[in-house]
This record gives sequence, C-alpha cells and structure tokens, in this order.
Amino acid sequence: MRVPIIAANWKMHMTVSEAKEFVEEFKGKIEGTDVEVVICPPFTLLNTLKEITNGTKIKIGAQNMHWEEKGAFTGEISPIMLKDLNIDYCIIGHSERRQYFSETDEIVNKKVKSALAHDIKPILCVGETLDERKAEKTEEVVKKQVLAAFKDVDRELAKEIVIAYEPIWAIGTGLTASPEDANKVIAFIRETIKELYGEDISEEIRIQYGGSVKPNNVEDIMNMEDIDGALVGGASLKAESFAQIVNF
Ligand code: PGA
Repeated sequence: MRVPIIAANWKMHMTVSEAKEFVEEFKGKIEGTDVEVVICPPFTLLNTLKEITNGTKIKIGAQNMHWEEKGAFTGEISPIMLKDLNIDYCIIGHSERRQYFSETDEIVNKKVKSALAHDIKPILCVGETLDERKAEKTEEVVKKQVLAAFKDVDRELAKEIVIAYEPIWAIGTGLTASPEDANKVIAFIRETIKELYGEDISEEIRIQYGGSVKPNNVEDIMNMEDIDGALVGGASLKAESFAQIVNF
C-alpha cells in the first residue's frame, strides 16, 4: 500500500554541468519504476534540476531550510523560496546538520512544522551514534528524536512526513545495519507513530533506511516488511548506480 520512496542526498557535491549530465543519463534508466524517486541536490542546483526533470518521474527536494519565511538570516533559504521553485521535499535534521551545524531536536521540530505549513514534505532523519548503539540505547535515542520532531504536528499533516532512519555509524562508512536490524528499529519507529497518531497513520507513513545503501544491498533492505525506501548518499552521485538502486 505504501509507495516506496528512494531519495538521493547529494550533500555538498555536483556542479550544474555534472547535474545535467546525471539527469540526461538517469532519466531514461528509471522510466519503468513504480518507486517515487527524489533527488536532493545543493540549493544552487534546485532551479536547474526542476527545469530539466520536468515531465520525468524525478521529484526534487532540498537538503535543508530555515523555518522562518523571510528576514535577516544571512546565508539561509526559506520555505517560501523553496515553494517558489515548486520543490516537493526537504531533508530535515540530517545527522550531519545535527552534528556540524548544531541542529537540536527543537530546531528540527520548527523546520518540520514550517515545511508542512508550506506544503513541502519533510524527509525527517533520525538515528543513533555507534556509542549509543553499543550502549543499547538505539530505541531510546530514536524515540526521543521522533517525539521531538512530531511535537505539535497535526495528524492530517503527520502522514506527509517521510522518516529516514539513518544509524550515524552507517553513513558514508560502508557499514550498513543488517536488513533485520534496520527493520527492527523501523518497526519500532512505526510503533512510536502509532502511539502518537493511531494505527491508520502509522500504517500509512513511509519510513526509509539510510546508511551505505548500494546497488548490491538495496534489494535485501527493500524486501523488509517495514522499510519503505532508502535515503542514499554516496551511491546516488553516479547515474548508473543510483538507477540500479531505484530499479532494485
Ligand atoms: P551514504 O549517506 O549513503 O553515503 O551512507 C546516506 C546519508 O547520509 O543520507
């Protein structure tokens, strides 16, 4: 019932010409897919990508946004600006933003609510560090992040959120959570959503896995019952490998 969603997180990579080359090669390779496909490039590429993906199956997302609509916030991009380009999604609370740019659960919650208010679907990232996993605190950490991010979010809007479970120790390291372990945490996140909003919303909401997803492990991950997609960093930078992931 849930439409799978596979998203590329290009992070701080790609120039305009590289992005054009990517789309040229990629769009023809994914014509047969039933998966929702999203590319989240740096801000500088949003406009170009919106234009060159028009009429294809590719949707476009940002990697971050400010929660305010406008104002004296040098260097920031607002939801109004994203909506002006008809951007569909925005990654919010990625672990790199939490870690290097001091994004707290409170900031993440403000961004989630602001995105929803502007008809931008958040891809909300949550996940534990290696130390937290070793201390068997994964569920506690992830639950705290989910509860904080969904604070004061209406049930009608809650189901628009895509959650990405990304164990921090698996990002960019080549280490992946086993599909069973990832599914276990994702089922636990779904249970948390059920406690918040009831079973219908928890069955509807989509939850991705992220962290070293590659063409050779995507199928096992996607076959797990509770996993509805993937958020892909490194392997999304080449059209060939991201197409293989989408066509798993
Ligand atoms: P990775 O990144 O696929 O390179 O591990 C995933 C992410 O950070 O979203």
